[in-house]
Amino acid sequence: MNKTLSFSSFNRSKRIRRLANDIYDLVIVGGGATGAGIALDAASRGLKIALIEKGDFASGTSSKSTKLIHGGLRYLKQLDINLVRESGKERAIVNHLAPHLCLPEKMLLPLVKDGTFGKLSTSFGLKIYDYLAGVKSEDKRIMLSKEEALEKEPLLNESILEGAGYYAEYRTDDARLTIELIKKSNSLGANCINYVRVAEFIENEEGRIMGVLAEDVLSREKFEVSARCVVSAGGPWVDQLRFINEDDATRKLYLTKGIHIVVPLSRLPIGQSVYFDNPDGRMIFAIPRGKITYIGTTDTEYTGDLNRVVATEADREYLLRAVNHMFPTVHLTQFDVISNWAGLRPLIHEQGKSPSELSRKDEIFEEENGLISIAGGKLTGYRKMAEKIVNKVVKRLPDIKDQLSDSQTENIRLTDDPFQDDDEVSHYIQKMEGICMKLQLPAYYGWYLVTNYGKKAQSIIKKSQGRHKDPQIALALSELEYCMKREMIQRAEDFFVRRTGRLYFDIQSIDLIRNQVMTMMSDRLNWSKARKAEEEAIMDKLIQDATHYYKDERIDPSEHKPISPS
Ligand code: FAD
Repeated sequence: MNKTLSFSSFNRSKRIRRLANDIYDLVIVGGGATGAGIALDAASRGLKIALIEKGDFASGTSSKSTKLIHGGLRYLKQLDINLVRESGKERAIVNHLAPHLCLPEKMLLPLVKDGTFGKLSTSFGLKIYDYLAGVKSEDKRIMLSKEEALEKEPLLNESILEGAGYYAEYRTDDARLTIELIKKSNSLGANCINYVRVAEFIENEEGRIMGVLAEDVLSREKFEVSARCVVSAGGPWVDQLRFINEDDATRKLYLTKGIHIVVPLSRLPIGQSVYFDNPDGRMIFAIPRGKITYIGTTDTEYTGDLNRVVATEADREYLLRAVNHMFPTVHLTQFDVISNWAGLRPLIHEQGKSPSELSRKDEIFEEENGLISIAGGKLTGYRKMAEKIVNKVVKRLPDIKDQLSDSQTENIRLTDDPFQDDDEVSHYIQKMEGICMKLQLPAYYGWYLVTNYGKKAQSIIKKSQGRHKDPQIALALSELEYCMKREMIQRAEDFFVRRTGRLYFDIQSIDLIRNQVMTMMSDRLNWSKARKAEEEAIMDKLIQDATHYYKDERIDPSEHKPISPS
């Protein structure tokens, strides 16, 4: 058995050598939440596995969601009781597995004239929702009169308000959840790697899949990876991968784009999340988080470039209109919007249904040569999806089946030194806020560090001292050190977008820290001049996309180079 490699940025060549030399029970294609969940389930049962991701971990849909671990109120409306029950149960499990990454978040559901939810049905629905999701008694829903709702949220539109429901949800950081799943899988022996693309599937003489042809996206080197089973968790790319596998595969996915816009918290200073009606019949979230409030989402058919999904002016205006309708005194305009993110829902194709009507359920497809693909579903359901897939894989391995345990993930805490509960997270945040203020850092960083790195926050703050005279730059460099040693960042964007979330939640801070971060990464990872220039160009494009609203989502290729590997 190979020794587990630390999850650092520095041992990439060793990982690749292992990929090329070892024979795996299972190779997983795709390092989003779905692939990461499968990796953890499979590795913890005792399978020898590799996970191959063409960009960074979570660089697909799993960093572009609304970032809720939710019980699925919309499923209740569709009378999908089992899905509500399962989502509710999963929500509680994820909260237990990583309390700093799945934080309780109160949600206000305004009831408006001719809205989606009526007073009686909401009261009854939320009660059932609490019951099915096993919500703790202190978190159970409360129904509010119009006056009580306005007291809680004075910015709501008084002229249409009739009351509100007030209930419990959970908020996460999808990219951080994914990276913690990957790190845990690695600690259990999985060989997970980013920036390696699966270019082809390899079959044996009987036409059964027996591995993949992979390409190191950073060096362009190609190599084969041998596997007894291959699972594609390619999210929006599932059909592309199925077409590579079989020329005449039929399309299974229907992609829709969802964008979120970000405004400073001071421009939409809501006291809790709000899930509100848009006059077109859709529901929109406004979610406060640290220094900002984000608003989303849209839901439109998508046929553009999967590797570069951008927000259009129409997307932005749609969300601004919705938010100004529900919060009429804030008068948000395009000039208030400081960043955005745009992602794709890999929904399962169903003839004659509109995007909003399509089911969010997951589905598994098995091809003749043995390739298994999984798509659809939600972040919230990653664990159950993983269990289902690994059960299938285990059945394909009769010789070792009896040595493997059942799924263990319900009890595998995601970090080494986990918080026991939400109260411990709150106390720890307060403690870190105090330490930050002593070091002349804004208290915000206490919350930020704990909700990103859990109990590693303290040592990151400690190791920041003496790195730079500006404490915010010193802190960023200490985070960078941690991410290089423990979180396998390869490109600058991995740090700015997914490990720290700064591009979305604190875009102004990028200006302050960018030069020093780039220099340290370049020095430590021995980047050539050309590589550093490439990294700068990628960052420029990402910042442009997060702050720019295109006329059309099909961007003119002569004007803009693609930013991620295809
Ligand atoms: P992805 O995260 O897209 O991962 C697939 C990965 O496969 C990608 O990283 C890609 O690079 C990789 N890949 C593709 N081709 C190759 C190849 N050839 N070689 C190697 N790697 C490859 N769910 C919730 O529970 N709560 C929410 O609040 C929520 N909000 C959402 C809001 C929006 C706007 C959207 C779009 C989705 C939302 N979801 C939410 C759903 C959730 O985000 C997705 O279900 C989930 O992130 C899908 O994860 P995935 O791993 O299947 O796909």
